[in-house]
Amino acid sequence: MARMPGAEWRPIAVNHTKGGQEAVRGVVVHIMAGTFEGTDSWFRNPAAKASSHFGTSKSGKLRQWVDTADRAWAQAGGNRTWLSVENEGKGGDVLTDEQLDRIAEVLAWAHKTRGVPLQVTHDPNGKGLGYHAMGGSAWGGHTSCPGPRIVAQLAEIVARAKKLTGTTAPKPYTPPAFPKGLAPNKAKPSAVTLQRALKKAGYMPSSVKESPNYGPQTQAAVAKFHNAHTQYRAKGVTRDPAIGPKGWAALFRLAYGK
Ligand SMILES: [Zn+2]
Repeated sequence: MARMPGAEWRPIAVNHTKGGQEAVRGVVVHIMAGTFEGTDSWFRNPAAKASSHFGTSKSGKLRQWVDTADRAWAQAGGNRTWLSVENEGKGGDVLTDEQLDRIAEVLAWAHKTRGVPLQVTHDPNGKGLGYHAMGGSAWGGHTSCPGPRIVAQLAEIVARAKKLTGTTAPKPYTPPAFPKGLAPNKAKPSAVTLQRALKKAGYMPSSVKESPNYGPQTQAAVAKFHNAHTQYRAKGVTRDPAIGPKGWAALFRLAYGK
């Protein structure tokens, strides 16, 4: 018997096979082509002849319908050796950030409890995080489930699962070196780097055009940053449009560090 801690356990009485889940190769990602609660009702209807071990909602709910010792009916020929995750949404959608987190949790749990490797696979005879379409006709020929945009997100899910399992230690962020000669009203390529960091950290509207000129808009954004972080502001002024090495490092940590 295996129910995932943290998943809401809402078992279904029909549409699955008791026992029969063999060595698990990995986790298969699906798209519901419907809503979370609509899918929940459908899985309880004997006419569906379909189910999934897990499901996520766009808002980040994680539900378990079928014990992972039992076989869910999600991907035909792949049911015997794969766990399944259905995801709220329609064809062509991308998964929400919350859904990526929930699937990463399922994958991390499958890694810990069933030895599923933390990798993307495109092979029904492979191992790791796969998707319905990879099984071809043996898996029911669902070539558009979950869609290429979601398949492109699988690497991100694996990266998050690695973080959860401590497989990769997060690298400390190092800001770039302070560029020489960066100053208001001077033209330097590094002004563009500064503008990008200001935008990323929320001090400059993203609509402002990038320019090597450290002009009024860049100066205003730097002054705004200094007003929020007065320890980097020049003493005795209320508006500091020039950034120094310490302020530069702090701004880049805000923009790109985690
Ligand atoms: Zn599917």
